[in-house]
Amino acid sequence: MAITASTPPPGLPRSLDYPEVPVGSILAGAAARYGDRTAFALGDESRTFAETYAAACRFANALRAHGIGRGDVVALHLPNCLDYPVAYHGVLLAGATFSPANPLLPPNDLAFQLADCAATAVVTYGPVAAAVAAIADRIPARLRIVVSPQGEPDPGSVEFGEFSAGQPATRPDVEIDVHRDLAHLAYTGGTTGRSKGVELTHHNVVANTVQHGCAQSGALPAFDANGDVVLDQIGGEDEWPGRLGTGVTINLTPWFHAMGVIAGLNAALLGGTTVVLHSRFDPEAYVADAERLKVTSLGGAPALFAALLATPSFHTADLSSVHGIGSGAAPMSHEMIRALRERFPGVVVVEGYGLTEMTMGAVVSPAHRSGVRKVGSVGRPIFDTELKLVAEGSEEPLPPGQEGEVCLRGPQMMRGYHDRPEETAATLVDGWLHTGDIGVLDPDGYLSIVDRKKDMLLYKGYNVFPRELEELLSALPGVLSAAVVGRPNDEVGELPVAFVVRRPGVEVDAAQLIAAVNEQVLPYKRLRELHFVDEIPVSAAGKVLKRELRKQLPEPA
Ligand code: AMP
Repeated sequence: MAITASTPPPGLPRSLDYPEVPVGSILAGAAARYGDRTAFALGDESRTFAETYAAACRFANALRAHGIGRGDVVALHLPNCLDYPVAYHGVLLAGATFSPANPLLPPNDLAFQLADCAATAVVTYGPVAAAVAAIADRIPARLRIVVSPQGEPDPGSVEFGEFSAGQPATRPDVEIDVHRDLAHLAYTGGTTGRSKGVELTHHNVVANTVQHGCAQSGALPAFDANGDVVLDQIGGEDEWPGRLGTGVTINLTPWFHAMGVIAGLNAALLGGTTVVLHSRFDPEAYVADAERLKVTSLGGAPALFAALLATPSFHTADLSSVHGIGSGAAPMSHEMIRALRERFPGVVVVEGYGLTEMTMGAVVSPAHRSGVRKVGSVGRPIFDTELKLVAEGSEEPLPPGQEGEVCLRGPQMMRGYHDRPEETAATLVDGWLHTGDIGVLDPDGYLSIVDRKKDMLLYKGYNVFPRELEELLSALPGVLSAAVVGRPNDEVGELPVAFVVRRPGVEVDAAQLIAAVNEQVLPYKRLRELHFVDEIPVSAAGKVLKRELRKQLPEPA
C-alpha cells in the first residue's frame, strides 16, 4: 500500500490554512502590498500592481453595468498582454467565470468552445478579432470587447479601454461562494481528443496559487488589513532563493493555459514578482532581456529550455542574477537537466507536474536549497495533496516500484467536467482524480512520470513507453530533441518510430542512432524507423503534438 502525501519543506507545516477568499483577492492583496512596484511590462509599457488592480476594478464595474456577474461566463480570446490580467481579474471581481481560449484556435474549435461554455461576452484581440466576428452567429455571446482593435471598426464590438471608461476604480460589491462558484472554465484535451471544460471553483484556484507560491518561496498564506490574501515569508534566504517582492521573470507561458494563469500570473502577483512579457519567442531577445533586466528566475515548458540551450548567447551572457529555474507542462529530459545544471551551478532546478484538472500543480520537486532533487523525478505531492498509483481496473494503491496510473486528490481538484457527467464519473472515482498518466514511486515517495497512458504503444501485447526511447535518444550526441510515436502494424500492433531534430554541427545518421538505442532496450521496444525533421511540433503550452507527428509518418517503404 502506498499513498504519498506532501512532505513539508523545512520550517513549514504539512498543511496550509487556505484563505476562504475569491480569486480577485489575490490581485487586491498584491496591490495593497506591492503597490507601485512594476507588476507587468511589455516593450516600453508597464503597469504597477496598484494600476492593474484599479483597471481590473473598472473593467469589473463595466461588466456589472452590462448585467454580467455571477453565473455568467466571459471568454478571453487573448494572447498575453498588459490588458490580460486586467480582463482576467476584472471578470472574477465582477463575480463571473473566466474561460480562456487560445487566440489561434481554428474557427470550428473556437465556435465549439465558446458555445460549450456559453460565454455571454468575449474579450478578443485586434489581430484575431475577425475570428470571433466570423462565428458570431454560432455562439451565444452578446458582447464583443476588443483589445488593440485593428483596421475597419467592427460595428458589433467595443474597444477595451472605452468599455471601462468612466467606471469607478473600486471593487464591486459581489457575493461569491468560493466553494461553489466557478472561477475558471478551462478547456483541455486538445492534444488528445475532444476538448472538455474543466470546472474550477474560486477555492480551487486560490488553493493552488497559494500552494505553488508557498512551495516556491517558503511562505505561508495570511490576510492583510483588508482581509485579502497575501504571503508572509517564513523561510530564510539561505534556504529559499525565491524571495517575495524581489523577483523578475520573463513570461512566455500562455495565460490561457493552466501553468500560465496559475504560476505565471496569479502566483507571480501573490509573490510580488515583476513579469516581463515577450509577445513572441525570440531566443536572442530573451537572453538579452534576461541579462539587461537581471531576471531572478527562468520558467516555462521544456521546449523553452531546449531553444535556449541551443542559443549561443545563452551560454555567454551574464545571467548571474538567476537563482531558480522552473519547468512544467511536459517532461524535461535528463540530458536537459544536466545541461542546465552545468550552465547554472548552484541554481535550484525545479520541476512540477500537474494538469488542468488539478487547477495546475500537484507534484513538485523542492525549491529550497537543501531539498533533495532526483533527476527523472517530478518530486513529491505539494501541500495537502495525496497521490496513489493504481493498476488498470483497480483502486488499490500499488507499492513503490510498480508502474500504475497516477491518481491525485487535494483542495485544487476540479469539481468536474462541464456538462459531461460520464467523463466526470470516469475521471473522479471515490474522490480521486485519475490523470491518465503512468507513473512510478520510489521508496521516498518521489514520483517519476513514465508516460501518458494514451501515448503508450502496444507491441504484441507488451507496453512500450515512447518516453523511455525519447530519453535514450536525447542522451546521444547529435540529437537535439526527439519524439517517438507508433506506426500501426497488422501483425504486431504498433512499431516504435522516432522523429529526431539533429544538433547543428554534429554528423549522425539514422542507422547509427537506431543501433545506439536498440542495444540498450528489450527486443520488443526496439526502434524500427527514424526520421530527421527540422522541428518537433509542440502546442502553445509546450506539449509535443503526437497527433501531428503521426500525420507526418511517411508511407511504409
Ligand atoms: P494540461 O492539462 O494541458 O496541463 O496537461 C497535463 C498533462 O501534461 C499531464 O497529464 C501530463 O501528461 C503532462 N505533464 C505535465 N507536467 C509534466 C511533467 N513535469 N512531466 C511529464 N508530463 C507532464
